[in-house]
Amino acid sequence: MLPIGEAQQKVLEEIPVLGRERLFILEALGRVLAQDVEAVRDVPAADNSAMDGYCLQHKDIAGANLSNPVRLKVVGESPAGKPFTGTLESGQAVRIMTGGLIPNGADTVIMVEDTEREGDFVVCLNDPGFNSHVRFGGEYVRAGETVFKCGDLIGPPEVGMLATLGHAYVYVYQRPVVAILSTGDELVDLDEPFTNGKVVCSNTYSLAAQVIDCGAIPLSLGIASDNIDDLRARLRDGLRADVILTSGGVSVGKYDLVKDTLTEVGMKVKFWKVAMKPGKPLVFGTLGTKPVFGLPGNPTSAMISFEQFVRPALLKMMGRKNLFRPLLDAELAQDVKVSPGRLHLVRCKLFEKDGIRFAVSTGTQSSGSLRSMVMADGLMILPAEKIPFKAGDKIKVQFLHTDNPLSPESHY
Ligand code: AMP
Ligand code: MG
Repeated sequence: MLPIGEAQQKVLEEIPVLGRERLFILEALGRVLAQDVEAVRDVPAADNSAMDGYCLQHKDIAGANLSNPVRLKVVGESPAGKPFTGTLESGQAVRIMTGGLIPNGADTVIMVEDTEREGDFVVCLNDPGFNSHVRFGGEYVRAGETVFKCGDLIGPPEVGMLATLGHAYVYVYQRPVVAILSTGDELVDLDEPFTNGKVVCSNTYSLAAQVIDCGAIPLSLGIASDNIDDLRARLRDGLRADVILTSGGVSVGKYDLVKDTLTEVGMKVKFWKVAMKPGKPLVFGTLGTKPVFGLPGNPTSAMISFEQFVRPALLKMMGRKNLFRPLLDAELAQDVKVSPGRLHLVRCKLFEKDGIRFAVSTGTQSSGSLRSMVMADGLMILPAEKIPFKAGDKIKVQFLHTDNPLSPESHY
C-alpha cells in the first residue's frame, strides 16, 4: 500500500495547470492571476492633501506657535476634484480639502485645527513641518512598476488595487469542471422514494460542495447502478469535464466494478489503495490527460480522500501556489487507538486551555458517519509508525476551517 505522502505526490505530478481566461476584476475574486500587472499610471496621480486645512509655503510659517502666530492671505480653494489653477506666492494660503491637489508654489499643508480664520486671512498657530500632510504623486505606486506577479491570488485588496490602477480586465487561470458520479445499487437520490435497504446518496452533494468550496465547477452525473453498462454510459457523460470523480465501488466487494470499468474505458491506473484510514481503497489514474479519482463510497472516507488528493489537485489546476490546509501543532487531550500499518486521520475538535492548544477526537470514527465530519475542526495526523498515541503527545492537526473556532469572540 502506498504511503499517503507518496500518493499525493503521484497525483500532483499528473495535474496540469489550466489555460487562461480574461475576466472582469470583480469576477476574478478568489482566482489566480495568469499575468503580471504593471501600473499604467502613478498612484496618487499628483501631489494632494491628506488633510482638510490650508496649503502654503513652509518657509512662511517656520517656527509658528501660539505666541508667534503667522497670518497669511487666503487666495482661493482647492477642493478634491477641482484644482486651484493659480500659483501660490509667499504670504498666501489656499484652503484645501482631503484629496485636493496641491497648487503650484505650495509645499506644505497645515490642518484646519491648527488655524483660525479671520475674514480673508488665516492665522497659523503651529509649524507642522516641511511637506507635512502632502501625499506625493507616485508615492504609493510608480507608473511602470510591476504591482502583481503571475500566480498572485486575487483577494479584496487586489481587486481594489486593480481598480485603482484602472484595470477592468485581467487574465486568470481557468476553473476546472469536475464530473461527479455516485455509484451503488442501494443509492436513491433526493427526489426518489426512500425504501427499505436503500441509502440516500449524499456523496454527490458533499463532493459537489467541496468542489465549489475549492472554486471549481461541479457537474453531476447522477447515480450509476452496480453494472458495467450503466457505469460506462455515465462515465462517457463525464468526458467533457477536466476531472472525473467517482464514489463507491472501488473496494473488493463482489459489486465493486468501478476500477475495472474505468480501466476498460481507457484509464491508466497510477495507484490503487493508500495506507490511510479512512480512505484506503482510493484509485487514481488518468484518462488521456484527465485525472480520475475513484473515491471510496463511505461518506466520510470520500470527503477525507477529497481533502487529501482532490482539493490540492484542483487548486493546482487553478494556478494556486499554496495547495494545502494549515497544519497546526496540538497536544493530544486523550489516548487515541491507532492500528498499525496505516496513517490515521482522526476527526477532532480543537480547544485552548492555559495557552495550550489541545485536540480531542469527535467520538465515533466510523467512516459511514458524517456526524464526525460535521463536528470536526480538523484531522489529527497520526502516523502508524509512531504508535501508541497517548494523552499529552505532541501531534499535527490538518485544520479544515478558514476562520478560527478557537477564539470566536471579537478581538477588541
Ligand atoms: P462501496 O465503496 O460502494 O462499498 O460503499 C461503501 C459504503 O458507502 C456503503 O455503505 C455505501 O452504501 C456507502 N455509499 C456509497 N456511495 C454513497 C453515496 N453516494 N452516498 C452515501 N453513501 C454512499
Ligand atoms: Mg457500492
